[in-house]
Amino acid sequence: MNVLYRKMPGNGDELSVLGFGCMRLAVKADGSIDEERATRQVRDAIDCGVNYVDTAWPYHGGESEPFVGRALEDGYRERVNLATKLPSWLIGSREDMDTFLNAQLDRLRTDHIDYYLVHALMGNLWDRIEGLGVADFLDRAKADGRIRNAGFSFHGAGEDFSRIVDAYDWDFCQIQYNFLDEQNQAGTAGLEYAAARGLGVVIMEPLRGGNLTKTVPPAVREIWDEAPTRRTPAEWALRWIWDRPEVTVVLSGMGEEAHIRENLAIADGAYPHSLTDAELDRVRRVERKYRELMKVGCTGCRYCMPCPAGVNIPLCFEEYNNLYLVDNPDGERFMYAARLGGAVALGEPEFASLCVQCGQCVAKCPQQIDIPAVLETVVEELEGPDFEQRVATAKQLFKQT
Ligand code: SF4
Ligand code: SF4
Repeated sequence: MNVLYRKMPGNGDELSVLGFGCMRLAVKADGSIDEERATRQVRDAIDCGVNYVDTAWPYHGGESEPFVGRALEDGYRERVNLATKLPSWLIGSREDMDTFLNAQLDRLRTDHIDYYLVHALMGNLWDRIEGLGVADFLDRAKADGRIRNAGFSFHGAGEDFSRIVDAYDWDFCQIQYNFLDEQNQAGTAGLEYAAARGLGVVIMEPLRGGNLTKTVPPAVREIWDEAPTRRTPAEWALRWIWDRPEVTVVLSGMGEEAHIRENLAIADGAYPHSLTDAELDRVRRVERKYRELMKVGCTGCRYCMPCPAGVNIPLCFEEYNNLYLVDNPDGERFMYAARLGGAVALGEPEFASLCVQCGQCVAKCPQQIDIPAVLETVVEELEGPDFEQRVATAKQLFKQT
């Protein structure tokens, strides 16, 4: 397998088209990072040619950065471009910015961050952090060598994207992009805008948190399967992104060895403009089919979490989408009870009717989902009078009663 490389426009860095995202690392049964397995996975990917590793302050409850610092020991740090992010929502002053960056250098056991991003910008967050002096912070951190390149990751509305691009001399940006998000957030217009202004573009959520590959609905599978060239759904989704010459790196969270192998194999053929018009048309048909089937556009990013009432918001939405994407409503209603009712994992109930409608989660959702309202629909469609019975059956099945 040969991972391909693309040039970062501003500095000529040759970056692997596939980056290792450390937001969804391999975990143990209690939810903590499986250090041994995840370290092996990161190092194997680097040994195969991946040279971009991305983490952030809040990933895995704050444990991702210290993990990455340890995983990149034994000479691996020097072989990668390390990316992490300033947690913009935790910044209250200009001094906080240096405090976080210095703490991140400690956590990551390094003296510099190659690609440093202001994390998860939306219009109002940008206005606030710009007012606190983030431009001066980035200038100085570059000048004193603590960061090599300055960028931002974006989850806001399309109209805010271009004004943030224009507001500072950025080296790169990171956007959510996949064939279901062409019109969402920065979207295709943002991708083209940033590239035209000389920014490298890193892509996150290429598989929409796995939703484009985990439960492929039969109607979608049919369209993929009719293609003369057989590809997995992941390969179609990734190749569609790499087809765009504006894309520099695609981040994939790879907690399973099989996913790493598959993504590396796909990255082997990741040339721009390599899909035919007929293939692009096929992706368009799949996109239309998904829109017919999906109920809620949750990517599973978890920015809305934790919920003070204990609702597992992304999991509620995942099961709710599955109700419409997978042709097995009874099985799905049972899965909802099993996964959200406390029968598996840590055993805590996390279902939608625990929501007390406090509204705290709403502003945190980059997809602008009206979370409490959709949760009410989830309750109507996936709970109902036999819900407790389903939970009890599931607990028996998982031997918790
Ligand atoms: S509105 Fe509901 S889901 Fe959102 S934080 Fe409050 S209790 Fe949790
Ligand atoms: S509801 Fe919104 S914030 Fe929460 S996981 Fe889904 S997309 Fe992310």
